[in-house]
Amino acid sequence: MPEGDLELTSPLVDVPGISERLARDLSTLGLRAVGQLVAHLPHRHEREEPEAPIAELEPETTVSARGEITACRLAGFGKRARFEAVLHDGTGRLDLVWFNAPYLRGKLHPGEHIRVQGKAKRFKSGIQIANPRFEVIDPDDEGSAEVEARLRPVYPASERVSSRAIELAVQRILPIALPLIDDHLPEALRKERNLPELREAYRAQHAPSDEDEVAASRRRLAYDELLLMQLGVAMKRHHLRDTQRAPALRSSDAVHRRIRDRLPFELTKAQSRVVGELTDDLTRDVPTNRMIQGDVGSGKTMVALYAMLLAVESGHQAAMMAPTEILAEQHFESISSTLGGDGPRVELLTGAASDADRASILRGLASGEIDLLIGTHALLTESVVFKSLAVAIIDEQHRFGVHQRSLLRSKGESGGQDGEGLTPHVVVMTATPIPRTLSLTLFGDLDVSTIDQLPPGRQPIETATATPDDRGEVYARVRSAIEAGDQAYVVVPAIDANDEIGLVGVREITHELETRLLDGVRIATVHGRLKRATREHIMERFRRGLIDVLVATTVIEVGVDVPNATVMVVEQADRFGLAQLHQLRGRVGRGSKPSWCCLVSDPKTPDGAERLRVLTESRDGFRIAERDFELRGPGEIFGARQSGIPPFRVADLAKDTDLLILARRDAQDWVNHSPTLSNPNEQILRRRVLKTHGTWIGLGDVG
Ligand code: ADP
Ligand code: MG
Repeated sequence: MPEGDLELTSPLVDVPGISERLARDLSTLGLRAVGQLVAHLPHRHEREEPEAPIAELEPETTVSARGEITACRLAGFGKRARFEAVLHDGTGRLDLVWFNAPYLRGKLHPGEHIRVQGKAKRFKSGIQIANPRFEVIDPDDEGSAEVEARLRPVYPASERVSSRAIELAVQRILPIALPLIDDHLPEALRKERNLPELREAYRAQHAPSDEDEVAASRRRLAYDELLLMQLGVAMKRHHLRDTQRAPALRSSDAVHRRIRDRLPFELTKAQSRVVGELTDDLTRDVPTNRMIQGDVGSGKTMVALYAMLLAVESGHQAAMMAPTEILAEQHFESISSTLGGDGPRVELLTGAASDADRASILRGLASGEIDLLIGTHALLTESVVFKSLAVAIIDEQHRFGVHQRSLLRSKGESGGQDGEGLTPHVVVMTATPIPRTLSLTLFGDLDVSTIDQLPPGRQPIETATATPDDRGEVYARVRSAIEAGDQAYVVVPAIDANDEIGLVGVREITHELETRLLDGVRIATVHGRLKRATREHIMERFRRGLIDVLVATTVIEVGVDVPNATVMVVEQADRFGLAQLHQLRGRVGRGSKPSWCCLVSDPKTPDGAERLRVLTESRDGFRIAERDFELRGPGEIFGARQSGIPPFRVADLAKDTDLLILARRDAQDWVNHSPTLSNPNEQILRRRVLKTHGTWIGLGDVG
């Protein structure tokens, strides 16, 4: 294809100078079109020194030279062996040494020509470079000798395609592709924010002339990523606030008293404050979009129940969605028993419901006979239609993807006469406090309330770490707690053991406990593969104290509330995230007795063991979440991956906080002036926002 006809969407094979074979290799990295290759950014840049003849190399400087390997050998043994080579270029001799590098024996051979770069040192009568970077070169290829210092891009590469090959392909297409890149930012904003043009930013990433250019182009591309996301979030927020209406619930002292009389406890100060904030929201006709964060055990359910009862007091319905069946079942049990037989009608809907039960629940919801619905994501199914859903609660939000929120919100719109055209108030709850940067991005459209106080009478949880060698003592302590009348959880990372990756399973641990470590103790297991009836039966027996030890997978991670359980052992604790362990630990310490949580892990993974120390030192869910975020990144923690939030390629949420705040402010200003980005000069921008963020944010209905 002639170069002039190429577009960003053109296949790389069509580019003159890119061979079919190279195009095929690039496609293994997902790079098929011209635009994709331009967007394949280097993950770092290396400084390339100009080459000099060996005789002219200066000691104590970073140098670069090329020549032929005239001798090489491996010295020493095993992994620590060092590889030595001698390089000649006709002007002199250069000694090279790589420490701990036995693998080089198969890579470098006498007769080969290489180019090396590194710090020159005086050595015997000549010069030596230790651990130089090197590259095997074609001795006939005189032309590519580097004569000037430059920054060379280093690309994410694979066994099949080297960074160098990618670099050459990029250099080939750059002159064709750059003019095709349209900027979506107006020049005025770019100038004001001191950002280079988009095509200039790509140019500078792939072929920078200095570090400043790299930094400036990175800033532009990171800003873009953050701005696009923030625009999406701001558009959604604007759409909700300005075009959607929610039922304004009635509240009064009498209503407040009636609801409080139904609750089994005096609310804590923090709960009361959050109830107040929620009441303010719910009594307005602007759709509420609030996150309630409160550490494990802070009593979020009570606050949620209050909001649901407020909906019922005004003649509407409410729903609460939990991430697991166990938790939904437990909420159902505790809410039903709290409300008693004469209260509002509560039903449970999970994927495990029989067809008949399900049909009857659907009828009750549509007719309005059912006031409160508790369930799993099963209540997001299309056939679930409410007469008038006013309050929708998502418990343990971090276990859901982000877009479930908009699905649940859509449940109010198709309602009967009462709910016509109305959208429910949405309240999400989480015990995993959201690090600030993240709450600004993923949850940028949420207001936040915090329950920063635990109900009275809580005992601290002592947290310890142990190694597999200590398990005898660990379980001896479990046994004595059981003899004193307490109960215990043993958490295992998987249902089935997997020897290949060294994972223990529920079955083998249970067997070991039954036959050896805890023989004579009443042990049962729960995990996600059990039938609902079986699981319910086991949980019920555990609650009633008929089972001493529950061996479980993370199905018990959230919500489960058995105050008499005071001991938890987590096997292979290094397999879990910190925030997850904090949640798990929250299953104990729920009664008036002191509790103990022991994290067992193999010290062979020092990083893992070090990580666990954070938990022994802190009970502060916020600190733990921040640490987890630093260690594992946002996707892992907040279900971002499942929810389809595109990962950032350039921006780094942990480091680009200032840029994020800037982008957020710019996005908000922008959307205030142009809520749907429908001006003619906003078309490229709008297309890019929708393409990247339309799905997970749920922008389908915006403008
Ligand atoms: P979480 O915030 O982790 O969801 P829960 O709502 O499960 O916490 O509450 C934890 C425990 O505290 C439950 O046993 C609940 O009954 C109890 N609880 C909640 N609020 C109060 C209160 N105001 N006073 C005493 N106990 C409370
Ligand atoms: Mg809870």
